[in-house]
Amino acid sequence: MASKRTPESYVFLEKLGQGSYSTVFRAVERANGLRNYAIKVCSKKHIIRERKVKYVTVEKDLLNLLAGGGHPGVVRLFCTFHDTDNLYYVLEFVSGGELLGLVRRMGRLPEEWCRRIASQLVDTVDYMHAKGVIHRDLKPENVLLSQEGRIVITDFGAACCASEGGSAPGAADRAASFVGTAEYVSPELLLHSQCSFGSDVWALGCIIYQLTQGAPPFRGDTELQSFEKIVALDYRWVYAAPPLIVALVQSILVLDPLQRPSAKQLKQNPWFTSVNWDDRTALWKGIWE
Ligand code: ATP
Repeated sequence: MASKRTPESYVFLEKLGQGSYSTVFRAVERANGLRNYAIKVCSKKHIIRERKVKYVTVEKDLLNLLAGGGHPGVVRLFCTFHDTDNLYYVLEFVSGGELLGLVRRMGRLPEEWCRRIASQLVDTVDYMHAKGVIHRDLKPENVLLSQEGRIVITDFGAACCASEGGSAPGAADRAASFVGTAEYVSPELLLHSQCSFGSDVWALGCIIYQLTQGAPPFRGDTELQSFEKIVALDYRWVYAAPPLIVALVQSILVLDPLQRPSAKQLKQNPWFTSVNWDDRTALWKGIWE
C-alpha cells in the first residue's frame, strides 16, 4: 500500500465486533473492492478519556514487530491512519468468527479439532514469545477462525514486550485496571500483580480445557468468585477427557509460573506426538479442510 490511506479510501460494510475501546467493521478498498479487510476504529476521545493511549500505540508497534515473521497465527496489520475523531487499523479480515462462538455452538469439540486448534495456538504463542511479546489477554474471543478453520490471534491491545523470564512492564498497572473476562487471568497477576510469558501459557491451559469441556475451568457466578477459584486452583473435569489432555492441562494450571512448561516445551508434550511442527502445511490445516 503505497499512498496514504484515509477513511474515504474504504467502503465500510457491516460491523464485525465491538471491543471495549473500538468497533471493528468489514471494509473493502474503494478503488478495487476486491479484498476484504477488518478495520478497527478507535475513538480518540474515548481512548484519551479511558487513558488507553498507551494500549493502542503498543498494539500497533507489536503487530508491526510480529509481522516481520509473517506468522499465520498472528493477525496481519496492513496500515494505520487517523482523522480528527478516530484511529483506524486496517487488519486482515478473518471470516470464520471467534473461537468462542464455535465452542458455544458445539460445546465440547472432537479431540482431533482440539489438538489442531491447540497446536496452532502453541505454535503462535511460541513465535510471539520468541519475539519477546506477551499477549496478556488470550481468550477464545481473541482467537479468530479463518474460513478454513485456522486460528488467528487478534487484539494485542494489552500486550507488552519483555525479555524471557522477566516480569512484564505495566503488570501492576494492568492488574489494577483489570477489565474483561476474568476467567483466563493468571494467579500471579491476581496475587502478585506479575505477568510473564507463563501467564500466556496459563491462558492456553484454560483454553485447551475449555475446548474439551465446553466451558473454562474457573467460572464463578461473579468475577470475584472466578478469581477465588483461580488462586485456589479450584477446578474439576466435568466430562471424561483423554488422560493425555488431563495431564497436559494439569502441567500448565499450577500456581507458580516458573513451574509451567514454556510454549516451546509444550511442543514436546505427549499429546502432540502426532504433530509435525516442521510441516507447516499440515500444522496450519484448518479444522474444516
Ligand atoms: P477488547 O475489549 O477485547 O480489548 P478491542 O476493542 O481490542 O476488544 P478487538 O478484540 O480487537 O477489539 O475486536 C473486537 C471484535 O471484533 C473481535 O472480538 C472480533 O469479533 C472482531 N474482529 C476483530 N478483529 C477482526 C478481524 N481481523 N477479522 C474479523 N473480525 C475481527
